[in-house]
Amino acid sequence: MSIHVLSADVFNKIAAGEVVDRPYSVVKELVENALDAGATEIGVETEGGGKRLIRVTDNGCGIPKDELRLAYLPHATSKLSRAEDLERIRTLGFRGEAIASIAAVSRMKLTSKTKDGEAYSLRSEGGALGELTRDGGADGTCALVEDLFFNTPARRKFLKSDAQEDADIANMLSRFLLSRPEVSFTYTANGKVKYRSFGDGLRSALAVVYGADVLNKTYEFDAEKNGIRLHGFLGAPEFSKPNRSYQSLFVNGRYVVNQTVSAAVSNAYGAYLMKRQYPFFVLFLEVPPEVVDVNVHPNKADVRFAENQVIYGCVYSVVSAILDGNARALEYLVPADGRKGEAAPAAAAAPAAPAPAQMSYEQAKKQLSFDVPPLGGRTPVPRPFREERNELEVHAPAAPAPREDVFEENRRFLLERENKARQDKIDADLLVYKGEIFRTYLCYELGDTVYLIDQHAAHERLIYDRLRAKCEARTVCSQPMLVPYLLNVNAQEFAFLEKNLQLLRELGFEAEPFGGNSLKISAVPADLRDIRLEEFFGEVLASMETLRGIRLPDLLKDKLATAACKAAVKGGEALTDGEVRSLIRAMQGDMTLKCPHGRPVAVRIARAEIEKLFKRIV
Ligand code: ADP
Ligand code: MG
Repeated sequence: MSIHVLSADVFNKIAAGEVVDRPYSVVKELVENALDAGATEIGVETEGGGKRLIRVTDNGCGIPKDELRLAYLPHATSKLSRAEDLERIRTLGFRGEAIASIAAVSRMKLTSKTKDGEAYSLRSEGGALGELTRDGGADGTCALVEDLFFNTPARRKFLKSDAQEDADIANMLSRFLLSRPEVSFTYTANGKVKYRSFGDGLRSALAVVYGADVLNKTYEFDAEKNGIRLHGFLGAPEFSKPNRSYQSLFVNGRYVVNQTVSAAVSNAYGAYLMKRQYPFFVLFLEVPPEVVDVNVHPNKADVRFAENQVIYGCVYSVVSAILDGNARALEYLVPADGRKGEAAPAAAAAPAAPAPAQMSYEQAKKQLSFDVPPLGGRTPVPRPFREERNELEVHAPAAPAPREDVFEENRRFLLERENKARQDKIDADLLVYKGEIFRTYLCYELGDTVYLIDQHAAHERLIYDRLRAKCEARTVCSQPMLVPYLLNVNAQEFAFLEKNLQLLRELGFEAEPFGGNSLKISAVPADLRDIRLEEFFGEVLASMETLRGIRLPDLLKDKLATAACKAAVKGGEALTDGEVRSLIRAMQGDMTLKCPHGRPVAVRIARAEIEKLFKRIV
């Protein structure tokens, strides 16, 4: 397709938006163009955090001489012409606005050579085009962007430090390395090579981005269900991360952030990770293009699925199967040598089962039951992960089980979990108290099991539950303070607190603005008489950044409750016998509880494990 200007009706279907706001977004657009041009080698160079210079060189198809001028025009694209094309977008760019937007705010030069043409360049200064000139160079395109925002000083001011811009460029490029492992990328910042990938596959790209060791800490898998393919790498639960920056999702090759998929993965990991631990994953989801809407956000960072439930069900069941090591996982896991499907000799030896008829996405949608898996409402049941995996190898099924509705599978899975949790619940009255160790752990015996209970984790959990329950029922009791506490914060923090005064009140805090940027706290929740206010507000304000984007007051309540009980519970404090007993009673025999920060409240040790230590049994 040659370059042409989109008709107004097509363009109006696309919400126009800012494509360029930071150096990394310039790099992103230029690399996407190179990829769309079929390049197999892409070089990215930057100077001064990309503010001084960005150069993206590719060996793609090039731009014909007489189209070079068109490339600079707004809404000129070779990738889409009719509105219907929006339904089936496979290329990365399609709005035809990147080059025009970049050129408008920089000094730009495009040099390009097609296979059968000569190399030509065309310069632009703040969008004013120069003359087309003969140039030298290999097949492909070189886009040079200098002095970004030279003519818009206001925008220049919003740029971050060189180091930060470099880091953001590297982070964004890492996603291209992962999504296009067959392309070789080189990224050089101020003359120093930051990334060099060789276009020799995903494992290799993963090692370039995260270090070679990552392959030992992740499970590679490849699953196909109902016309949806999900593959990539899942971090072993012990390889968890303190934030979400180690999570990459690619939908049809495009890096996106998507709530449905995130929720499905988080819920599948739910039982294995503590609060504030995030799984490592690099996931590729391939779905029929007509079921994703890539036009949600101007910079294309999110997608919308026509049927969220089908996507949720697929991701959830695949990730759960792998983490829980259930039999189905065998179908999905790619062994270390990369040859999938040869992991189980038993399966190979068995007479070939008739290939199950593959259900299409459309069929899956029709069969969709209304059992929506609960988002986040699962009971975590910690299970020894390694052992399950080992078991899995022994009990390899002779032939793959026939495919079934993903929701049926999820429902069964959740039910199993629930049953397991119920079985794990013990009768607290039968616990025999055996004393306390390190002034921290309470020791209980029940039949052939010893339970160690972290009294502080338990205490915290109980305060937390109580607080949340009261908060929900709006029955929190306030305890006035003799001397009000004056909280002095900065303007931004004050604005945040002021906006959330109502929530603070629901939690039992009496708080009111007290001139300037201060807040007068005159009462605290009765449960938290001993709360350390400074610490508490410090915690809440520290998470202000992350909370701001989330509209759910629910999450804030959760945060407040966590911070409150953390600030209330003192460590190393001995409990009285009476307190211990009421603690256990309040736990209602649930030994799978976790404290609000995600640490387990109780640990169970079987008699057999102790006897193994003494070599009484092997
Ligand atoms: P879009 O990528 O959305 O089509 P752009 O403004 O990024 O819009 O690019 C405009 C057009 O210029 C593209 O459609 C393509 O035809 C051409 N083009 C841009 N960069 C390259 C490149 N590196 N190689 C080949 N063609 C390119
Ligand atoms: Mg583009």
